[in-house]
Amino acid sequence: MHMRTYNIAIDGPAGAGKSTIARKAAEKLGFIYVDTGAMYRAMALYILRQGIDRADEKAVEKACGNMDISLCYEEGVQKVLLNGEDVSGLIRAEEVGRTTSAISVYRAVRQKLLELQRDLARNYDVIMDGRDIGTCVLPDAQTKIYLTASSHVRALRRLKELEEKGQMCNLEEIEQDIIERDYRDMHREIAPLKQAEDAVLVDSSHMSIEQVVDTIVKTARAAGLRGAGE
Ligand code: C5P
Repeated sequence: MHMRTYNIAIDGPAGAGKSTIARKAAEKLGFIYVDTGAMYRAMALYILRQGIDRADEKAVEKACGNMDISLCYEEGVQKVLLNGEDVSGLIRAEEVGRTTSAISVYRAVRQKLLELQRDLARNYDVIMDGRDIGTCVLPDAQTKIYLTASSHVRALRRLKELEEKGQMCNLEEIEQDIIERDYRDMHREIAPLKQAEDAVLVDSSHMSIEQVVDTIVKTARAAGLRGAGE
């Protein structure tokens, strides 16, 4: 008989700490971490490189047919490949983030990644993070978390990250950018960001990374996950 895999969905706005938390929780549980934002970002990078107007839905749709997006893992670290090229570093640029949220409103863009994401969850125990995982991609995930934090705290975290990379930034601009990206993600027609009815809300504004990871592991255990990571 086919054993069902265990799936944990983590959704939430930009900068809530989803990827850091999901990566650590996956390590603890021996799960595979799937960063769906990275897949959307790789598509946006392609659009930027080709000089395609992100507002031109038809052109973006056509470009979807020329991109091959896949994931691979090196020592447990996810790499995202765009037509075979490892673009994991390049997709983190601010410009790519903005373009990503603009093109991820299109049906063709979302459709392209949906099956890939579902296949991964069918074949492996995964922690998958994104915007529509609990509501749309994996509605039957055994554990769903909606991870958020105030936009101010999220902007401060982002500022710190950028400063560590040696980039000078302006806090107000970062916060404004975050607010705009969230608005677009929450108000799009297809698969908008929202808390699934059966998701557990975790506000990380005043929590440490460890506290959030613990909360997620405990929630999964309470929902029936056994064994791994004990
Ligand atoms: O999580 P990350 O900041 O990498 O996501 C970048 C953008 O990709 C988001 O702002 C959102 O527009 C889009 N995205 C999405 N659905 C997902 C994951 C990301 O639409 N499941």
